[in-house]
Amino acid sequence: MQGRVADSPLLFCGMPMPSMILRKGRDQRLKAGHPWIYAGEVERFRGEFQDGDVIDVKDHRERPLACAHVNRQSQIVGRVLSLQREPVEGAFLRTRIADAIACRKRLGLDPGVGRVVYSEADFLPGLIVDRYGGWLVAQILTLGMDRWRGRIVEALRELFQPEGIYERSDMSVREHEGLPVAKGPLWGEMRDLPEVLLDGLRLRVDVVNGQKTGLFLDQRQNWALAGRYAQGARVLDAFCYTGGFALHAAKGGAASVLGLDISEDAVALARSNAALNDLEGRCTFEAGNAFDRLRGLDSQGERFDLVVLDPPSFTRSKGAVEGAVRGYKEINLRALKILNPGGVLITCSCSYHMSEEAFRAVINEAAQDARRRVRLVEVRTQAPDHPILPAAKETQYLKCLALQVV
Ligand code: SAH
Repeated sequence: MQGRVADSPLLFCGMPMPSMILRKGRDQRLKAGHPWIYAGEVERFRGEFQDGDVIDVKDHRERPLACAHVNRQSQIVGRVLSLQREPVEGAFLRTRIADAIACRKRLGLDPGVGRVVYSEADFLPGLIVDRYGGWLVAQILTLGMDRWRGRIVEALRELFQPEGIYERSDMSVREHEGLPVAKGPLWGEMRDLPEVLLDGLRLRVDVVNGQKTGLFLDQRQNWALAGRYAQGARVLDAFCYTGGFALHAAKGGAASVLGLDISEDAVALARSNAALNDLEGRCTFEAGNAFDRLRGLDSQGERFDLVVLDPPSFTRSKGAVEGAVRGYKEINLRALKILNPGGVLITCSCSYHMSEEAFRAVINEAAQDARRRVRLVEVRTQAPDHPILPAAKETQYLKCLALQVV
């Protein structure tokens, strides 16, 4: 009798442990380290569970492979939490976040400002946490994580002892999970926007109404690049937001910096950040459409030594790549035309659907049309606190190239 019990499937409150059983051959990606299970890969579900629960994932012979958050309302029905059968209650979340902190510490990353949890890449699918000094900003993107929000707050308070935690789950991806957008303090009271010290710059961060969680932290190492190439330069930062590249360039010794952004709020904060660092004398920020301004600067014969292009994602779908290519080509062509010989173009694409290869091809075409010879001097991607899973190409989206015009 004893033996029979030990050999039987794992029991949960007298019921078989709920599970999703994959179709034959559909376990390969998961075994290679990819953290998603698509609806079409599941043969059947077994047992009693609700969407948002943690259930087992099994191969077609019902051998356990992983445990995952399940949500049958989403195309991605399973998000792998662990490749072992381990209890994911209690200390699990806290331990995973502590691991994410320890990994960043080993890399020597700034503990005061940066991404401290990056979803799948930190084996916590659906949870993003950015740190801005005393404040943490969280994005909760899946039903499973949403059900854990109380635990998330508890773990973050314990591990960081923050002044407060603010939620910026005002993202449309939540719709795919059947969740409404959510925004507001999760803990603590925010009297003023947080101010951080980032690579020697004082920056006020609009965690409440800014884009993403307030800063484009994925560009941090690339901002430093602008600082390096800025000495004595006339600089243009064409999609400057609150001045990530522009202020680094000014601090790096630029003779003058012109920052452009379509958002009045972003430009206002860029200006006040320049003043906070006594850089306002060399920085001008203007609200406007970068496409028009680039064309205007070219026809007026204005010339620069460093141009930065960090536009928003021109495509969020595979189908819209063609339009995106036109957009990238136009701005890169203009930028190359207004660069002085020896000048540098830092050009970025955050569109996942635009591959690095395709992006390089667009830049090459732009250079041809602009009649400029260019040399690629740096190839970069997102900051190391936004790690990439080699098994999941979706986790790499940012391309940043530096090209010198000769
Ligand atoms: N380089 C910035 C991030 C830029 S994000 C940083 O590192 O902090 C892209 C920015 O482009 C957003 O701030 C958005 O407001 C702006 N934008 C979008 N369309 C634009 C347009 N047509 N002209 C100028 N800015 C635009």
